[in-house]
Amino acid sequence: MDWKKLSTTKITEVYRGLFFNRCYICHAKAKNTLCQHCKQGLPTNHTHCHQCKRPTHTHNILCGQCQSNPPAYQVCVAPYQFEGVIKTLIHGIKFNQRNQYIRPLTFLLSEQLIESYLDQSWPEQLLYVPSHPSRIKERGFCQTKAMATQLTRELKQHLGDKCPNLPKKNPIKKIKNTQAQHSLSRKERLKSPKNSYLITPPTAKHIALFDDVMTTGSTIEHCTKLLLAAGVEQVDIWVIARTPDKEYKPQAKQTV
Ligand SMILES: [Zn+2]
Ligand SMILES: [Zn+2]
Repeated sequence: MDWKKLSTTKITEVYRGLFFNRCYICHAKAKNTLCQHCKQGLPTNHTHCHQCKRPTHTHNILCGQCQSNPPAYQVCVAPYQFEGVIKTLIHGIKFNQRNQYIRPLTFLLSEQLIESYLDQSWPEQLLYVPSHPSRIKERGFCQTKAMATQLTRELKQHLGDKCPNLPKKNPIKKIKNTQAQHSLSRKERLKSPKNSYLITPPTAKHIALFDDVMTTGSTIEHCTKLLLAAGVEQVDIWVIARTPDKEYKPQAKQTV
């Protein structure tokens, strides 16, 4: 093995894997990537719209937006709300190259996926919503590609051959360099994905589309429609976190 070619992150990961089994957040001893204590403090997306997984105060309702304008996808898995520790970890990957957080996040998503797909069939392929090439150059990597790759590794351990395959070349391309979603207003976000992506028709009929965060859902909706128009029959959405609406205020925890 050429050790010079290994990045510092990779060496740390190998070292950690060989000698430690520690929580990625607090470094306490832990069987998996996070200790029980840190896991309990994560902003779980408990109550949500059953279609688009928008955080709501009542469980299993259909939100106003899904009632007036139903999304093109049927299945959406979004285990966390985009806030607290989850937001810190995702921002760490996106803006500070903290790639070591990819593993705990994809591990958590894989756990939720395995539970969600107990009574339904797994997609054949896993695609991801990519960043624009100029942003990938700026960051040095595409975070959704890195996350989708790690997610496949996690799922393969449970699913073996049934694991959705990640094509070598992602058939979705971002062709318009739009402003970062988090810096736009809701109105601007809803407008921005139009004509921003290009699709090469994929061969699979049932596809999982991965993104790290779903904000308004307009990018996901746009890409889903392009995939359906290209001959895909079913698109399932897999995201780590869903951004709560501005009006949504988490309910205060009851103290006994
Ligand atoms: Zn911990
Ligand atoms: Zn909804």
